[in-house]
Amino acid sequence: MIHEIAPEILDNQYRRENIQDDSSIMLFFEGRLLLSTKNGQISYPRYAQVKNKIGRYVYLFSLSGRGYFLAEPLFTETEYEGFQAVTAIQLRDKQPVSEAFAGMTALHLYRWYASVQFCGCCGNRAKHDENQRMMRCPSCGYMMFPKISPAIIVAVTDGERLLLTKYAGRKTAAYALVAGFIEIGETAEECVAREVFEETGLHIKNIRYYGSQPWGFDGNLMLGYTARLDGTHKIELDQNELSTAVWLKPEEIPEIADYSSLTREMIRRFKHGRL
Ligand SMILES: [Zn+2]
Repeated sequence: MIHEIAPEILDNQYRRENIQDDSSIMLFFEGRLLLSTKNGQISYPRYAQVKNKIGRYVYLFSLSGRGYFLAEPLFTETEYEGFQAVTAIQLRDKQPVSEAFAGMTALHLYRWYASVQFCGCCGNRAKHDENQRMMRCPSCGYMMFPKISPAIIVAVTDGERLLLTKYAGRKTAAYALVAGFIEIGETAEECVAREVFEETGLHIKNIRYYGSQPWGFDGNLMLGYTARLDGTHKIELDQNELSTAVWLKPEEIPEIADYSSLTREMIRRFKHGRL
């Protein structure tokens, strides 16, 4: 999965880090990230290459000791020779995985920083805290911490078949699992049961935690669960959310090319008898 980057190590604690000539510079153009691709491997501009073409910058994180900084581009993307801006979708299956993960994590932080330049309470300009990743309003003192939205995904089986869905209104034809955001005031397990019932009308039991994944493309933390069907197989589809929900045996599930997400890993493990 995209966050599995060993032997590389992510150090995502905020600190007052000095920028170096070999620091990676993350430049966004309306949500698209600037990178270069050589022999199928992506890389980001180094500070030495773009120092005259960036404005303000902020430390994001380090990968195996090398710093990544979010910077404000001073020019349009075509002025950064040898690089091009790509969308989040284009980033997710890139190699090396550690750089794709760095891009996804930078995108999450970029969107958060863009949303906290002004105080959410009184509207004054906010300032970065000296010691932690937090924006503080000098006027009213309001503190804004990084925003992560917890969401669940669940692999429901009846013992032989897996419940697979397709989202309504999306171009992508890939199968997914039932998923949804946790509401304020509910547990992750309650959310799992609620989402399955709302989207398919099915009841479930034996809800078990599987694992989690940071999914910065959408600002989420994905919490994966498995569950067993309890009662009838008959699906009553929520057509606002889904275009399809089907029960498939392992051999009926198409192979998926890219295993960057927790959803896809869980589907793959079911297909190969290991979920
Ligand atoms: Zn304020």
